[in-house]
Amino acid sequence: MMKLSSFLNLDKAIPILNTGRYTPVGDLTVISICILMFIILMQTYSHRNRNFGLALETLVLCAGSALTNVIYQVNLIAPPDNVMFFYLSRVVHHVILALVPFFYLLYLQVSLWANVANSKRHMNFSLLLISTAVIIDIVGMFLHFTVWIDENSHVQTDVNPYIPLCGVFNLAIFVVLIRFRSKMIHQAFWGMFAPIALSVFMLIMQGIHGQTSFTCATYLFPVLGMIFLFHSNPYDIDTGAVDESYFYDELDDKLNKKRTMILVSCTMMNFNKIIKESQTVKLEFYQFFRQNVQRGVLYHFPNDRMMLVFEKKFSLNQDKIFNHMLEDFKAGHQKFKMDYKIVIMETTPEITSSQEYIRILDFVEEDMLNNTIHEVREDDIKHFYKDSYILTQLEDIVKNYDLEDERILVYCQPVFNITTGTYDTAEALMRLKLPNVGMVFPDQFIPLAEQNDLIHVMSLIILNKTCGAVRTLIENGYYLNRISVNFSTLDIRYQNFCQDVQQIIARNQIPYEKIAIEITESRNESDFNLMKQKVMELQKLGIKFYLDDFGTGYSNFDRIMEIPFDIIKFDRSMLIESGKSDSAFYMVSTFANMFDKLHYSVLFEGIETEIDEKSCVRMCAKYLQGYKYSKPIPIEQLENFLTLEAS
Ligand code: C2E
Ligand code: CA
Ligand code: CA
Repeated sequence: MMKLSSFLNLDKAIPILNTGRYTPVGDLTVISICILMFIILMQTYSHRNRNFGLALETLVLCAGSALTNVIYQVNLIAPPDNVMFFYLSRVVHHVILALVPFFYLLYLQVSLWANVANSKRHMNFSLLLISTAVIIDIVGMFLHFTVWIDENSHVQTDVNPYIPLCGVFNLAIFVVLIRFRSKMIHQAFWGMFAPIALSVFMLIMQGIHGQTSFTCATYLFPVLGMIFLFHSNPYDIDTGAVDESYFYDELDDKLNKKRTMILVSCTMMNFNKIIKESQTVKLEFYQFFRQNVQRGVLYHFPNDRMMLVFEKKFSLNQDKIFNHMLEDFKAGHQKFKMDYKIVIMETTPEITSSQEYIRILDFVEEDMLNNTIHEVREDDIKHFYKDSYILTQLEDIVKNYDLEDERILVYCQPVFNITTGTYDTAEALMRLKLPNVGMVFPDQFIPLAEQNDLIHVMSLIILNKTCGAVRTLIENGYYLNRISVNFSTLDIRYQNFCQDVQQIIARNQIPYEKIAIEITESRNESDFNLMKQKVMELQKLGIKFYLDDFGTGYSNFDRIMEIPFDIIKFDRSMLIESGKSDSAFYMVSTFANMFDKLHYSVLFEGIETEIDEKSCVRMCAKYLQGYKYSKPIPIEQLENFLTLEAS
């Protein structure tokens, strides 16, 4: 059996391998790096889009070209007896070597000028070039102008048709990179261009010094760059964006260096999904990002947010560039109609944490309408900090779970009873009194408490305090039918809701019927059944139920009738509506009449004037509430509206 070393001609070749023209060090290094890269890529996170396969194949070609070069070089120094074998090693090596830049071009083609018809043409043309080089090489072998073995069994070489072949591919890479430069973000362009320029320079230097040892190595560098840039690196080639995780470090670093940065956050609904599914949208975004995001870094967040961060430079006409970008964006939006919210914010020296900026952006974005652009101002930041402060206070209230917590105040609004002409009921309204900011109104803290699941304890505190006030009023001899307390639909979801309410009223030693509960209808089907069940349970104790804000929700009569409410509170918007036209008045009064006939009591909210009052009386109102009678007052002052019980 033939020994491998003699098959490869190594026996003769090894002593003379180090000729000065060639050493296998470069090629062996390339093979090792390729194997290492392959293992690393398989083991670690890498961005495996459809180009990833192409990148791996190019890596395999690099290793292949290095391996075949070792064999070819051995044969060159010590020609084998079998001429065919020698010749084969030369062709295989050179073709594989030429395929490396060719695959690199294919990679660029997929990313930069993807066009199926064109790519077929380019592919055919390239294969034609490769075959031409091979044919010239073979013909040259017989005619002795490329490579041949002379009568002394020495290899003679002259013209190498593969050099112009590789030259054409290298040149094509340069042309493509420069031509499609605008399609790439700045960093990506230089990340690709620089290693290629360096490789070509090295090849030329090798040529000048008659060296061939590092040819394959120079071809490997751009491939490594490409893999790192687009697969092992945070760049997302779809959008040219960098992964979110880098945002925090990089912004913190800039903030440390006291640079003023501009953050442009753009949230596009379902962006992540759409960009994966639609090639047209993707191409449009290519265009947009490549053309506009030349300066600064674009980050991609998982929640459909893209964020452009760039340094504020007073010398540059940034506004103009920026406005151009927004115009471009809006033009794109006209086509694709993807809902967006854009928030623009300049960093300030007072805020030094990147996380904090994200929280502010989230905060501002939440209050925005779709398809609007908002520039963050000092007011927004103040508002954000006030909200954060309120939230920590609410958390503290819930953590302490003190039913007498002094930060929660009970205000109330007396309700006028038309039948008796007296004030015998009232609505309890919550206020907060916080150390740093003073009085806080419900619109500022109820949504916060609901969003953060803190409302339940607060509801129990206000219920407890209201019960305490009712007890004092009764003890002081005032006549009070009941006070209604607002509960959120979230409260109803608590398993212990009924038990908690019952216990608090009982521990204040007042009759259950002195307390009523106001709830707003819920859009949630499962809430509805739960609400019905809990209302009925507490009604058995004598607790009355009010349907709050009738006319603002999506009331479905069948459902309202299913829950045995006692009082229907018509929202102020219904009153306003009824004043707009005769038919509107007719509609609202028909609702009110119907409830009246069905033995519900009707309460109109938001009575501000005499005219309001008169029209509500015409509409079968039983109770009236509004600024006309009283603004919300501290519950201690309610006695001013009540009558003393006849003793
Ligand atoms: P609501 O339950 O509809 O309470 C009535 C609101 O209308 C009160 O606002 C009251 O000040 C206001 N109002 C009263 N009369 C008039 C009027 O003549 N004209 C106008 N334009 N407004 C009038 P407030 O106290 O700021 O409360 C706002 C909302 O916050 C309440 O609306 C209620 O949904 C919620 N809320 C208040 N206290 C509590 C509470 O203890 N628990 C819960 N869950 N929500 C509460
Ligand atoms: Ca209410
Ligand atoms: Ca209301």
